[in-house]
Amino acid sequence: MIDSPIAREFLETGRCQSCPIIDMHAHYGPFSGIYMPNHTPEQMLATLDRCGVELIVSSGHTALEDVVRGNAEMLSITERYPGRWYAYLVYNPHYPAEGQAQLEEYDRHPTLVGLKFHPSMHAYPLTGEAYRPALEFAAARRLIVLTHTWGDSPYNGPEHLAQVAERYPEVTFLAGHSCHGEFQKCMEVARKYPNVYLELTAAYAVRGLIEQMVETVGAHKIVFGCDLPWFDPHYAIGCVVMAHISDGARRAILRENALRILEGRRRV
Ligand SMILES: [Zn+2]
Repeated sequence: MIDSPIAREFLETGRCQSCPIIDMHAHYGPFSGIYMPNHTPEQMLATLDRCGVELIVSSGHTALEDVVRGNAEMLSITERYPGRWYAYLVYNPHYPAEGQAQLEEYDRHPTLVGLKFHPSMHAYPLTGEAYRPALEFAAARRLIVLTHTWGDSPYNGPEHLAQVAERYPEVTFLAGHSCHGEFQKCMEVARKYPNVYLELTAAYAVRGLIEQMVETVGAHKIVFGCDLPWFDPHYAIGCVVMAHISDGARRAILRENALRILEGRRRV
């Protein structure tokens, strides 16, 4: 049995009362080809309340397909929940003109804290020239870039991540899914570059991985996420809470690192 006040709170109440959670990798809305029962803003907030999640940062599903409509929708939803819901602007490298216009339009938007890239879905490498304007924009404003990463990918593997991290030290990169399948290499990148963080969506379910990340990279370089509304936060939180790590590490992963990263942005 894990001897931890946080674990005890979680098992007894379904929430970590002393450690309200911050989810750095959320989405919003329905998604083609799969049914997600709790995807409206009200349903998502009810899920957050039930699971003790204080704050999330989302990119809209619609924005992954249609940046103009989807980003506008995401930003207008987050505006309604100040202090609770922040947004990533999705940048699609195939639509540079629309992307540039949106970066300018939403530059000072109060809930925007960073950009979301999905190189795999958009079939374009993270290191490609078309991402440059977005990365330069993020660097100039010291924004967060949450990028999808995955192992053995021609678009967003550990080598791509290392290249952009090296080129843009002012950008805080969250490695979505921690290059799932190439975890060791991703951990090396996160250890080498101060501006790269491991993000846990889907990776949390790999047995023993959280312990290994804490041991080799450090709890201060890991952030929590669970792709809401794809997955239930309780499962993901449980994986961190029941991992064989210290309560200090649990707090760092579930809350403190995200808070530090968000406070480093000018808007939070
Ligand atoms: Zn995602």
